[in-house]
Amino acid sequence: MNRFSAQARVLLADPEAVVGPLCEHMLEHGAEVEKSGGAHILKLRGTSVRFTREGAATLVDVDAANLEELYYARMTVASHILEFSGASVPEIAWEGDGRQLSRPPNFQIFEVAGVGQVTPRMRRITLAGEDVARFAQMEALHLNILVQHPDVGEPQWPTVGPNGLVGWADPDRRPSFRKYTVRSVDVAACRIDVDFVLHADAGPGSAFAENAAKGDRVGIVGPGGGGLAEADWYLFAGDETALPAIGRMLEHLPASARGKALIEVADEREIQPLHFKAAVDVEWLFRKGAPAGSTTLLADAVRRTGFPRDGSAVYAWAGCEFDAFRALRSYLRKEIGLKKHEHLVVSYWRRGMSEEEA
Ligand SMILES: Cc1cc2nc3c(=O)[nH]c(=O)nc-3n(C[C@H](O)[C@H](O)[C@H](O)COP(=O)(O)OP(=O)(O)OC[C@H]3O[C@@H](n4cnc5c(N)ncnc54)[C@H](O)[C@@H]3O)c2cc1C
Repeated sequence: MNRFSAQARVLLADPEAVVGPLCEHMLEHGAEVEKSGGAHILKLRGTSVRFTREGAATLVDVDAANLEELYYARMTVASHILEFSGASVPEIAWEGDGRQLSRPPNFQIFEVAGVGQVTPRMRRITLAGEDVARFAQMEALHLNILVQHPDVGEPQWPTVGPNGLVGWADPDRRPSFRKYTVRSVDVAACRIDVDFVLHADAGPGSAFAENAAKGDRVGIVGPGGGGLAEADWYLFAGDETALPAIGRMLEHLPASARGKALIEVADEREIQPLHFKAAVDVEWLFRKGAPAGSTTLLADAVRRTGFPRDGSAVYAWAGCEFDAFRALRSYLRKEIGLKKHEHLVVSYWRRGMSEEEA
C-alpha cells in the first residue's frame, strides 16, 4: 500500500534537550519510543517519526498511512518541537508529501440547511456539506464548530503553513472552536444534524445556534472522538449537552443490549423522544429551576442505580458538567471498581468558565 512521508531539517540549539523530552512526553499520549543507533523513533497508531542527526541539523522523518495521518503527525511534531525549544524558536519547513495542503484535511465548509427547535432549549441545526460520510461511524461522534469572531467581515478559514501548523490570516480575530456532537448523519442527502443547547450566559457556541440562518456558511473541523465499547449492560448518564451523544448511542445499540439512561434537563418541556431497540430504561431528571451545573441530580441518580452482578459485561458512559464529571468518575472507579475499558466519563463544560478558560 502507498505510504506518505515528509521530512524536515531543523536547527535545534540543544537537540537532546528537545528530542528526548518530546519523546518522553509522547509516551503519555500512548506512543511507543525506541532508540536505535543514535536515532529516536516514535510510533503511534500506524505512524512513525524518526529523529536523527544530519550534520548540525536534526532530521525529522515522518511516515504515515495517508495524508490526513501525515498532517496530524507533522502538526504534532512541529508544535512539540516549538514547545520544548523554549525561547529559541527554530524554523521548521516540511518537504515531501503534504506540501500541497493549503487547508487542514479535517476542515470543511458547511452550509446551514435548516434550523429547527427540538425542545424550548434545544436547537437542531442541519448542516449540508460535501463529505459527511466521515461522520457516519460511532467512532466519529464529535466535531468542532468554528464560530467567527464578531469583528470580521468575511469568515476566516484555517490555513496550513509550511511548518505544518494551522494558521490564520488575522490571528487576533480567529474563530472560537466549540465542541459538539453529530446527532445524526444522512449520507445520501449530504447532511448532518447538530443539537445545540441554548444556555444562559451564551458563549460563541450557544450564540451561533441562536442566530444561525439558512444559507450561513460554517467551518467544521472533525470528526474527533467517540466510539462505544461492546457490553451486555450499559449505564448512560448526562445532562442536555450529552443528550445528542446518548441519543445517537442508544440508536446504535442492538436489541439484546440492556441498561439505564439517566438524563438531566431543566424541566419536563425538555424531554425529547428517543427511538431505540435496546432494553434501556430512560429516566429524566429535572432541575426544576436550579441553574445547570449546580445540582447533584446525576451523581445521586447514578448512586441509586444497581449494577448487574450476574457476570454481564458492563459499560458506563457519562458526559456532563465538570463537578458532576468528577463525582461520577470517582464513584464509578473507586466505589463500583470499573476498569478503564469499562467506562468513559467526560467533562462537557465547566460552570462559570468558557471552553477556553476551562
Ligand atoms: C465532546 C463534546 C461534545 C459536546 N457536544 C455537545 C452537543 O452536542 N450539544 C451541546 O449543546 N453541547 C455540547 N457540548 C458542550 C459544549 O461544547 C459546551 O457547553 C460549550 O461550553 C458551549 O460553548 P459556548 O460558546 O456556548 O459557551 P462557553 O463560551 O464555552 O461558555 C460561556 C458560559 O456559558 C456556560 N455554559 C457552557 N455550556 C453551558 C450549558 N450547557 N449550560 C449552562 N451554561 C453553560 C459556561 O460555564 C460559561 O460560563 C459538548 C462538549 C464536548 C466536550
